Amino acid sequence: MDCIFCRIAAGEIPATVVARNEHGMAFRDVNPQAPTHVLVIPIRHFGSATAVPDAERAAVLGELLRLAVQAADQLGVADAGYRMVVNTGKQGGQTVDHLHVHLLGGRPMHWPPG
Ligand code: AMP
Repeated sequence: MDCIFCRIAAGEIPATVVARNEHGMAFRDVNPQAPTHVLVIPIRHFGSATAVPDAERAAVLGELLRLAVQAADQLGVADAGYRMVVNTGKQGGQTVDHLHVHLLGGRPMHWPPG
């Protein structure tokens, strides 16, 4: 298995896990860009949002957002507000080819993103 996030999901690489269920898990980003920076991934490997078959997108992407909202609540950033980001593909800035949602909070976010 050469996917780093699959290895985190399998417990082969350590991560600071903040939530997990049968579908996905949330863990701290190793290079945080905000006081709260968590990645939410599906346990199953999908290379990106685009790589999820259309028939499964509502379930897979919906569950990821659900987990991210839950993590935001759990980590105490829900009231102040937060941002969820899904970098997708080369121009989208994706560097790890396993679908993930960034949950960023704990400071004001700016728009437009870089
Ligand atoms: P992206 O650029 O959207 O693909 O985001 C990939 C994210 O994964 C980056 O924010 C990295 O800091 C993060 N990352 C890479 N390796 C690890 C790791 N072993 N544990 C936690 N986060 C990681």
